[in-house]
Amino acid sequence: MALNYTTYKEGSVTGRYVTLEMLQKHWFGKLPSLTVHNIGRSVNGMPIKKVTLGKGEMKVLMWSQMHGNESTTTKAVMDLVIFLLSDEPLSDIILNNCTLYIIPMLNPDGAKSYTRANANDIDLNRDAKLLTQPESQALRTSFMEIQPDFCFNLHDQRTLFSAGNSANPATVSFLSPASDASRKLTPAREMAMQLIVAINKKLQPLIPNQVGRYDDAFNDNCVGDSFQMTGAPTVLFEAGHFQHDYQREKTREFIFHALLEALLTISNNAFNDHLVEEYFNIPENEKLFFDVLIKNPTRINSKYPAKQHIGIRYKEVIKDGTISFEPEIVEVGELKGLYGHETFDCSLELHMKRLSSQKKMYNLVLKQ
Ligand SMILES: [Zn+2]
Repeated sequence: MALNYTTYKEGSVTGRYVTLEMLQKHWFGKLPSLTVHNIGRSVNGMPIKKVTLGKGEMKVLMWSQMHGNESTTTKAVMDLVIFLLSDEPLSDIILNNCTLYIIPMLNPDGAKSYTRANANDIDLNRDAKLLTQPESQALRTSFMEIQPDFCFNLHDQRTLFSAGNSANPATVSFLSPASDASRKLTPAREMAMQLIVAINKKLQPLIPNQVGRYDDAFNDNCVGDSFQMTGAPTVLFEAGHFQHDYQREKTREFIFHALLEALLTISNNAFNDHLVEEYFNIPENEKLFFDVLIKNPTRINSKYPAKQHIGIRYKEVIKDGTISFEPEIVEVGELKGLYGHETFDCSLELHMKRLSSQKKMYNLVLKQ
């Protein structure tokens, strides 16, 4: 049975800039049936919210926007909850088998300032051991109280990642983090891998060859690793780039399907349908992408030697509550084996015209 995602998408919150105020106004504030608690306060005193729903035995704890400028999974979580509150039969299966504890925005200060770090300039995903920050303490306290059976650690990744050594962007990536330096496969790690295999099967028809996985170097300062260490299967979700989707509205939909599939696999106790070994067939991410690749720029600026190309990445800058994407030249050279989400070849007349229509890019190359 096909599921019509757009029915459940909260269309009032779109784009990259998502704040607590928006969630309050357009999401949990207008869903009176939701149970919402404060689990702590941020450095600047903003509340850290936790939404609870479901009455099932399996306890699933998920948190999003631990990094303030990573909002795609937050948008997907909003849509997921709207779906779960609907009369879809699948939502009943999940709510009868699971109790969901959702922290939609762990770092509301960073969300407001559109920064990765919190207001003390600390990366909360490197604070799992020392727990120096109020946001880290709130998450750890919830984890201890809930004693979840599963954890979902929800993030965004940058546009530079490819799914393996290929010209395919890593639109969604996963990791079952290691639980010690030996990276041995514990029962918790294996269950997390089975969940990822289930999700991958769901996503492949939607985004063929655009699912990646991260390497499992162990770091117990990272929250996912520290929770996995306790034996709670933990899955890292990373929302990434889909073709021409810098607002990450398509990726939002893929994350929605990923979350739904994970919860259904847990609800149906369908782990045995998915082989741990298949996890290792998912390609490991590599850093092969620029946002824009300009080939043979010598045609528009003779400063550049022949056969040298320009790699450009966008810097995300917040201006008046919206994010603008400012191009920056990050590498000039042969750039072998590297790709652009968009590529312009200045030696081709047709692409010259396209390039001059992309004024920002053209001026950037010209003024160097
Ligand atoms: Zn992150």
